[in-house]
Amino acid sequence: MRLAVLKERRGGETRVAATPETVKKFIALGCTVAVESGLGLHAGLTDAAYAEAGADVFADAATVLSGAGIVLKVRAPLGTGEGEVDELMLIPRGALVIGTLGADAAAAQRFAMLGLDAVSMELLPRITRAQSMDVLSSQANLAGYRAVIEAAFAYDKGFPMLMTAAGTIPAANVLVLGAGVAGLQAIATARRLGGRVSASDVRPAAKEEIKSLGAAFVGYEDEETKAAQTSGGYAKAMSPEYLAKQAEVVAVAAAKADIVICTALVQGRRAPILLNEAMVAAMKPGSVVVDLAAEAGGNCAATVPGEAITTVNGVKVLGYRNWPGRIAGAASNLYARNLLTFLTTFWDKEAKAPLLVETDDIIKGAQITRAGAVVHPNFLPKAA
Ligand code: NAD
Repeated sequence: MRLAVLKERRGGETRVAATPETVKKFIALGCTVAVESGLGLHAGLTDAAYAEAGADVFADAATVLSGAGIVLKVRAPLGTGEGEVDELMLIPRGALVIGTLGADAAAAQRFAMLGLDAVSMELLPRITRAQSMDVLSSQANLAGYRAVIEAAFAYDKGFPMLMTAAGTIPAANVLVLGAGVAGLQAIATARRLGGRVSASDVRPAAKEEIKSLGAAFVGYEDEETKAAQTSGGYAKAMSPEYLAKQAEVVAVAAAKADIVICTALVQGRRAPILLNEAMVAAMKPGSVVVDLAAEAGGNCAATVPGEAITTVNGVKVLGYRNWPGRIAGAASNLYARNLLTFLTTFWDKEAKAPLLVETDDIIKGAQITRAGAVVHPNFLPKAA
C-alpha cells in the first residue's frame, strides 16, 4: 500500500499531515511512503529527515500520487482551477483521502464522482474512543496556547506582576471568552505567565472547568444556560435575549481587561459576537484582543478575519485565520499522530490496508464518500 503525502498548497497552510516519526510507523505497518519535496519546510522538517525515516522524496505531486492507495492531507486537495496543480485529478481512483477536508455537498459529490473514499477528520464524533485521533482538540489546544503567546508579544506591558526597585508593574487582566479546548488551554497558559484570569462560557460544565483552573467565572446564568449543551457536548446557539444579558457582564469585564482571548464557537454557525463595537471602544488603549474565532467570522466586531493586526481606538485586534498553523511544528506533530492513530485503529494487518468498518461510530461520523457514493448524512441530496 503506497501512502502519499503532498505539500499543502491551500491558503498558506504551514502544517503537514505526516512527520518523519509517523512515516516510520506507517512503514512498520507495511506501507511504502512517498512525500513531496519541501513538504515540511514551515514545520522544521527537512526532506533529509523524511528520507532518513524511509520515505521516498519526489519533486512533483504527480510522481508522489502515482499508485497511491492512501493520501494524507491537512487541507482538501486542490481541484481544477484552484491552483497550480490539479491534485484531485492526480489521485488514483479508489484511493483513501484523509484530511480536514471542510467539504460541502458539492465537494462530497466531486470526491464520489472521482471514485475517492474521503474521510474528513473534523467530523469525527467527540467520544472518548476517538480522543487520540481528535484533530479539532489537538489543534485547538495548541491554538489556545499560541493565542496567549501572541497576546503577550503584542501587549506592551508584562503579564506577571513585576516588583522592581523602580516600582511595581501590575499583573495583566486576561479575559477568555469561550472555555472549550482552546479556551481552557488559554486560561492555563495565561495563568502560567502570571496573568489574572477570568473567563466566560455558556455551558454549565465549562463554568466548573474555568474555576478548577483557578480563573474567575464571568457570566450570566439562567434557565437557558442549564440546557446550553447539546448531546454532542457542544454549545447551543443562545437566544438574542440571553446574548444581550451576557453582553452586560462581559462589557464590565472587558473594560477592565488588558488582554481578551476570544474562542467561542457554535457548531455550523457564524461565531457569536461577544465583544461588540461599544465594548471595544470602552477598552483601555494598548489592550489586545486575540480572536481565535476569526475563521468563523470572529467573536469581536472589530476583527478583520485574516488581518494580522487591526488597531481600533488604540486596541490591537489580532485576526489571523489559521492559529494552529502559527505553531506549525507542534501542530504537525499532533495532527500527524492523530492520523496515524486513526489509520492504525482501522487497519487490516493481514491485508496491510485500511479497513473502514461501516458500522463503527467513528467511521459513520467521519467518512464522506465510499465506493463512488456519498455516504455521510450531512451531504446526501435532500429527499424531495
Ligand atoms: P467549540 O470550539 O465548539 O467552542 C468553544 C467554546 O465556545 C465552547 O466551550 C462553547 O461552550 C463556547 N461558547 C459558545 N457560545 C458561547 C457564548 N455565547 N459565550 C461564551 N462561550 C460560548 O468547543 P470545543 O472546544 O471543540 O469543545 C466542545 C465540547 O466538546 C466541550 O464540551 C469539550 O469538553 C467536548 N470535548 C469532548 C471530547 C471527548 O472526547 N469527550 C473531546 C474534545 C472536546
